[in-house]
Amino acid sequence: MKLLTISVPAYNESEVLPHLYDRIKEVMATVSDRYDYELLFINDGSSDNSVQIMKELRAKDPRVSYVDLARNYGKEVAMAAGFDYAKGDAMVTMDADLQHPPELIPEMLLLWEQGYEDVYAKRKIREGETWLKKYTSKKYYQLLQKMSKTPVLPDAGDFRLLDRRCIDALKKLRETQRYSKGLYSWMGFKKVEIEFDAAPRLAGETKWNYGSLFNLALEGMTSFTTTPLKISSILGFIVSIAAFVYMIYIFIATLVTGNAVAGFPTLLIVILFLGGIQLISIGIIGEYLGRIFNEVKGRPLYFVEEYNDEREPIK
Ligand code: UDP
Ligand code: MG
Repeated sequence: MKLLTISVPAYNESEVLPHLYDRIKEVMATVSDRYDYELLFINDGSSDNSVQIMKELRAKDPRVSYVDLARNYGKEVAMAAGFDYAKGDAMVTMDADLQHPPELIPEMLLLWEQGYEDVYAKRKIREGETWLKKYTSKKYYQLLQKMSKTPVLPDAGDFRLLDRRCIDALKKLRETQRYSKGLYSWMGFKKVEIEFDAAPRLAGETKWNYGSLFNLALEGMTSFTTTPLKISSILGFIVSIAAFVYMIYIFIATLVTGNAVAGFPTLLIVILFLGGIQLISIGIIGEYLGRIFNEVKGRPLYFVEEYNDEREPIK
């Protein structure tokens, strides 16, 4: 019998957790002759009674485990806690809101048995999302892909099965500002894709707004590629060369016409344009500097309040 950990980060998901538990139980019953499972909830500092529900589920079913994080650290960190606490020979990470259908797990297990170490599920359609979200997301991945050498897969989210080797590899990547999609493709290993129809969220609300999505997008760029830094140097070169050519032109024009005073609009435009480019470049450097600042502090990714009814000592 092999053990499969199903890791679910949850932030204010009390409405959906019981449904999720039932669905997973049903699905795993179909493969119970070959696999045991551990349902590992990561409570990401929920302010509702999610953690009570996890405790109740654990009281009636010892296959349920939970990690109660000390505060809301965000989904990326909650998933990292999942990697740390997973006991299985393989693990599946999925969202709590049942947008990731558990019915796909047996298919993932089949591919894992064939030797694939990272089986990721790709959304076919995105239900219940606005066209603006779909459009911006599509454009963003195109841009990210242009800037980076490692492929990033647009519609492959965090619904995936990872072999023990992948889990151990991911545990070594302790960066605090995390972008898991980038980490998965960066680490390599044998990958295979399966498709699924994303369902709309079962209940509750999405935790992402455009602000936090923009942040995640920046995170993706700055943690995944240093191309923006190069863009500002390239821009600097182009502008300097243009400025040099323009200087020669002015020099000659002044010699020929003798009029050196006119051109206030040009002057203003050039100063503003350059000022803008300089500020953008400083901003880009700042983004990377901020990341360095955060990593250099070397803080642990998270603290744990409780693991399976026991208070965790701080190691
Ligand atoms: N989540 C989390 N911490 C957060 C925000 C979200 O653990 O700070 C979890 C959430 O409970 C859910 C998953 O991340 O299981 C995906 O969140 P959501 O469904 O809100 O995102 P969406 O599907 O809209 O991208
Ligand atoms: Mg969701």
